[in-house]
Amino acid sequence: KKLGIALVGLGNYSTEQLAPALQETENCYLAGIVTGTPSKAKEWKNKYNIPEKNIYSYETFDQIKDNPDIDIIYIVLPNGMHAEYTIRAAQAGKHVISEKPMATSVEDAQRMIEACKQNNVSLSIGYRLHFEPHNQRVMELGQQQVYGKINKIEAADSFVFGGSPDKWRLDKQLAGGGPLMDLGVYCVQGACYTTGQKPVAVTAKFGEVTRPEYFDEVEQSISWQLEFSDGVVADCTSSYNESAGKLRGEAENGWWELDPAYSYSGIKGETSEGEMDFPQVNQQARQMDGIAQSIMDGKASRVPGEMGLRDVKILMAIYEAAQTGKRVEISY
Ligand code: NAD
Repeated sequence: KKLGIALVGLGNYSTEQLAPALQETENCYLAGIVTGTPSKAKEWKNKYNIPEKNIYSYETFDQIKDNPDIDIIYIVLPNGMHAEYTIRAAQAGKHVISEKPMATSVEDAQRMIEACKQNNVSLSIGYRLHFEPHNQRVMELGQQQVYGKINKIEAADSFVFGGSPDKWRLDKQLAGGGPLMDLGVYCVQGACYTTGQKPVAVTAKFGEVTRPEYFDEVEQSISWQLEFSDGVVADCTSSYNESAGKLRGEAENGWWELDPAYSYSGIKGETSEGEMDFPQVNQQARQMDGIAQSIMDGKASRVPGEMGLRDVKILMAIYEAAQTGKRVEISY
């Protein structure tokens, strides 16, 4: 049996990536939706053949608990809303996937984990790159020290924010912060899955604000350095004012670099031995199939809530370091 997924929040990511990916999945399928927009409910119902009884609004959300078609609830709302809906999904007795970043505070992330534990459901974070072959190769190269001990990591993830400034990504309450929350989390992830470790301390600096009409609540750009216990440093930047997407590692006997590293397709990789030769895959389909498989097997998720919590702790330490100008030690 395929597990039924309900998507909560039918914005860009659900519409352009997750719903199409769910047409290719083998272990799960698009069983239901939760939306506050009646016109979207109608459109999705027709397009994806979703039965009326599996369509919910934010008001009727909690009734999902009585619907045996829905096994997994996938929260694809603005960052500041992940906690509330994850907790309500857990209380409805459903497994949960929350999009990244998991939450906008450490306390929220902890409450999400607690709620899922109490209700005996699994919690995963939408970290699709753990299911992407080039990034998986980087995990192997770094963690298995294929080229010897790592000396240095560099990561950057940025895009030019344009259009109307009236977007939740620029709203501190809903986004939790600027490019660090949205994109920097990929650099934090990259550094952690390259080393297979948690950073012990961080230093950080906000960049200049050149477009105050956009960046009056959240940072425009930020750079930071993650220190690992064996002395490895990851140099990272994230900005809403330029374009970048890189993950590089340098080790004693070789190096590797992905660029673009984090995109949905077209990921390219090179090592000191030559170009990487891996297929482009539907990352979201693999991610949801992988998570569904772990649930069916009763096994731990590859991208568990605890990993999301670790990253929120790191993100908050980066903000503290940038705000105070001090080196901040991270405790887990
Ligand atoms: P979006 O703005 O396109 O969609 C957000 C959805 O939330 C919309 O349908 C909107 O109607 C709904 N919503 C409900 N209440 C809202 C409120 N109070 N304010 C604003 N919107 C509200 O955003 P998106 O790009 O789809 O991002 C959604 C989540 O998915 C974010 O957490 C984001 O970080 C994550 N995301 C992850 C990836 C990835 O590669 N894993 C890619 C894109 C987005």
